[in-house]
Formats: sequence, C-alpha cells, structure tokens
Amino acid sequence: IKGESGSRCAFFNETLRQRFQQEASMEAQGQQALSEGQFQPYFQPKFDIQHGDRLTGAEVLCRWIHPQKGMIPPGQFIPVFEKSGLIVQLDRYMFEQACSWYRRYLDGGGKRINLAVNVSRAGLLREDFVDYYVRVKEKYGIPDGVMELEVTESLALGGEELLCQLVCELQARGFTCSLDDFGSGYSSLNLLKNLPIRVLKLDILFFQRSVDKVRERIVVRNIINMARELKIRVIAEGVEETESVEFLRGAGCDIVQGYVFARPMPLAEFEALLAEAAGK
Ligand code: C2E
Ligand code: CA
Ligand code: CA
Ligand code: CA
Repeated sequence: IKGESGSRCAFFNETLRQRFQQEASMEAQGQQALSEGQFQPYFQPKFDIQHGDRLTGAEVLCRWIHPQKGMIPPGQFIPVFEKSGLIVQLDRYMFEQACSWYRRYLDGGGKRINLAVNVSRAGLLREDFVDYYVRVKEKYGIPDGVMELEVTESLALGGEELLCQLVCELQARGFTCSLDDFGSGYSSLNLLKNLPIRVLKLDILFFQRSVDKVRERIVVRNIINMARELKIRVIAEGVEETESVEFLRGAGCDIVQGYVFARPMPLAEFEALLAEAAGK
C-alpha cells in the first residue's frame, strides 16, 4: 500500500511539474507574441432586441494567432497570463487596438457604436489604471459614452470600495462600466446595492446546460426586473437559440450577444457587417 501511494504521489508531482513547465513556456511565448503582434482583436456583435435586433456594438475578444499552432483560444492562455501579470499588458494592447480602429472607423464616417473591452482584476489594481485608459481614449479622440470596460465581480472580494471608486471615476471620465459574468459566483447581488455600474452581463451559464427551462426563466426574468428597477441595462451572453431571444425580449432584456446572432469575428468581417447595417 505504501508503495502505491508513493507512486501516485510521484505521478501527481510529475503532472504538476509538467503543468508548471507548460505555463512557464506559454508565459515566455506570450511575452514574445505580444511584441510580435500575434494577438488579434476579434469582435462579437451585440444586438438590441428591443429595437428590431439592431446592431449596437461589439465586445472585443482576444485571439492568439500562433505562427505554428494556429489560433489559440483565450481559455488556454488568459488564466496563465492572469497568474503572471502579463494580462495587464495584453488588456492594454487590446484596448489600444480597439481605440485605434475606432478612430479610423469614425474618420471613415462610421456611425457611433458601443465597443467593450475586458479588464482583468490585475489591471484594475494598478495604480495608473484610470489614468492609462483615459490617456489612450484621449490620444485617439474617442468620444465619451462609447467605450465600455467589462469588469468581473471577483475584484469585489475584499475590494468592494475600491471597485466602486474606480467605476465612479471611469464613468465620470466618459467610460461605461459593465459587470461581466453576472451571477456566476461570489457576492453578485450584494454588490449591486453599492456598485454604480450601468450594464450587467448575464453569465453565459444561464443559457447553457439548464436542466429545467422553466426554472432558468424564473431566475433570469427576475434578475432582469431587478436590473431595470436599478436602471441597469442587461446584456444576455451566450444565447444560442431563437427561442431564448423571444423569451428575453418579452422579459425586457436590452441586448443579446450570442451565437444565435453572430460569433466573434475578425475585423474585416465585422466591418462588412457594420457597412451592411448602415445601409439598412
Ligand atoms: P467573456 O468575457 O465572458 O466573453 C464571452 C465568451 O463567451 C467569449 O469566449 C465568447 O466567444 C463566448 N460566447 C459568446 N456567445 C456564445 C454562445 O452563444 N455560445 C457559446 N458557447 N459561447 C459564446 P472567448 O472569446 O473564448 O473568451 C473567453 C474568455 O476569455 C472571456 O469570457 C474573457 O473572460 C477572456 N478574454 C477574452 N479576451 C480577453 C481579453 O482581451 N482580456 C481579458 N482580460 N480577458 C479576455
Ligand atoms: Ca467579457
Ligand atoms: Ca461574460
Ligand atoms: Ca469571463
């Protein structure tokens, strides 16, 4: 028996060691990839389901286009970069890409749309967080009210006051703040009491793997009602079925972002979609 547990332990250590090595190598490659421009912004469109499913904007999602491995999805590298801190540089890079594109888009006569980027917990905790985002926004002459920063409630763990303060400051300086992955954990409901966010993104899990559609809808409908009373807009994420869109429309949800309308897409495709929407 002793020998058995010993070898299991050795196996475990070996797996752990491999994982550390993989992470260290991904981290090193990430650093290089960032300097070589291997990360690309993809755009997932958002649609206003209360106004004719009109295209209202997009969330910018990161894709790593690796020269050998091809496209690596964020689920494989974001958690590693979050541990190492590289995520802060990556988020800032994505934001700068988004602003620079938005400038060109406006210069080309594009109509105002809403553009959201993700901000990690590590980024929020940086001393120069607000200054950096404001500076880049101003550098590209991005108007107030179009850039949205998506934050997750994880920051509130022990830092609710800080999160509130940051959200206030950002919104005073022309950003919109949204609470991402709402309902996926921690103190969501409690947080809504104090956090002055303007948008709430219903977690993707509300619309996936529900055992009971009736129960799913009771929960979702009541979150939407609560948000509306608080004057918070609701985005439903991860919606894949037309049936869910109809339900959400009836429940008073404002915006849907999900495969039912469109997947995250490269810039050229998104621009084509914008042009098509402008022509309507
Ligand atoms: P997220 O911020 O919650 O983004 C939404 C994710 O849901 C995206 O996954 C999107 O492709 C996916 N999604 C949207 N609609 C559907 C649907 O109808 N069905 C299904 N099955 N999935 C849908 P993605 O692009 O793989 O990103 C995963 C996560 O990685 C993001 O979750 C976000 O937490 C993180 N991430 C991506 N880009 C960035 C970034 O630039 N910075 C940071 N900090 N995190 C990022
Ligand atoms: Ca997000
Ligand atoms: Ca989300
Ligand atoms: Ca997330």
